[in-house]
Amino acid sequence: MTQSILIKSGTIVTMDQNNSIVRGDVLIRDGRIAEVATEVNDPDSDVIDAGDCAVLPGFVQTHIHLCQTLFRGAADDLSLIDWLKKRIWPMEAAHTRASIRASAQVGIAEMIKGGTTCALTMETVRHTEEVLRVVEETGFRATVGKCMMDKGEGVPAELHEESRASIDESLALIRKWHGQADGRIRCCFAPRFAISCTHELLAEVAELAKRHHVIIHTHASENKSECEIVEGDTGKRNIMYLDSMGITGPHVVLAHCVHLDTEEMETLMQTKTNVAHCPSSNLKLGSGLARVAEMLARRIPVSLGADGAPCNNRLDMFTEMRSAALLQKLAHGPEALPAARVLRMATIDGARALGLEQEIGSIEAGKRADLIVVDLNQLHSSPSPDVVSALVYSAQSTDVRTTIIDGRLVMRDRKLLTLNESTVIDEANREAIDLAARARVSV
Ligand SMILES: [Zn+2]
Repeated sequence: MTQSILIKSGTIVTMDQNNSIVRGDVLIRDGRIAEVATEVNDPDSDVIDAGDCAVLPGFVQTHIHLCQTLFRGAADDLSLIDWLKKRIWPMEAAHTRASIRASAQVGIAEMIKGGTTCALTMETVRHTEEVLRVVEETGFRATVGKCMMDKGEGVPAELHEESRASIDESLALIRKWHGQADGRIRCCFAPRFAISCTHELLAEVAELAKRHHVIIHTHASENKSECEIVEGDTGKRNIMYLDSMGITGPHVVLAHCVHLDTEEMETLMQTKTNVAHCPSSNLKLGSGLARVAEMLARRIPVSLGADGAPCNNRLDMFTEMRSAALLQKLAHGPEALPAARVLRMATIDGARALGLEQEIGSIEAGKRADLIVVDLNQLHSSPSPDVVSALVYSAQSTDVRTTIIDGRLVMRDRKLLTLNESTVIDEANREAIDLAARARVSV
């Protein structure tokens, strides 16, 4: 049995149904939140002082690519299709087990330091098991999908798969890893996007996801050219095509959804399909402005993600929260997407998108203990009369003091406890240089 942890004297932003904010203590025992109250005493606990700090559920990012962290800064200032064909695919094709490992480690280390405790990640076609091992070792929580690609122009040979092999490999990973590490690790199907997948593959994925009770994670309607290609190939708008293949529903997470017509919006609403909004990525790739305020008004579930490091270039939920809010204000005026709504998208709504809302996403007794302590006694966050405003508009990732996942301290007072930060940085730099040489990409 691990030692219990007692977080003392924090401003607890619970993210429960009433958005309750409690000044007090949180007791963590056996991986779960045991008690939340104005005062809890437990002499055997490891005490963490949270005076001047906010205590909140760890962030849940619903769209990232851990395998791409190593490509940070190596694919700037390109449009989506060029970005994929000239940089991302050649670099994914050049990955080895060692480089994937370095990529996952630097991505997870960055997320833990910035308060993200759970992520939905689409990996590349090969070596996904290495990412799963890094998730297991680091104490991170993730839903991981091996990328599926059985068609498409300009795809390097190393990334092209036969449909059967792609499905068999995805199923093997699900059978071996789904639910491992006390449930911290989950697997999903991750067809890359409609352009990269045959009808047969998508239809079978839709069927198998239901049979195995796993989610489907894909990209959709990120970019106008992508939508035109899908419409040219299928005669249907992207979301209508995915819907006809069975790739919609509460167990489906679609990244981006920037370019939607009214019928597509209606379909997402009726099928309760999840949208992962990635504001920084949409800005940097010039993809467009997702109609998030309209989606929320239609009760389409929207959560947040950084996307991969090469299109952001951070994996930082504070950046995504702030950008998401500011972008909707630009489109709809200053009252659109208030701070409290954004903070829900970054926590409990992300958990719900992954089917984990009973387990994580809020600070309530009985839930798994994924939570963070954020220091608000900083120049850029003083004064902070409203803790939610401070978290969304003022705070930054370096203000996260302590990160707990599944009741285990993975960062304390800015020091990572399951990874060696300087080794992770050195290995990422070394592996990135070798990978760029193998991919023949000059950076
Ligand atoms: Zn992506």
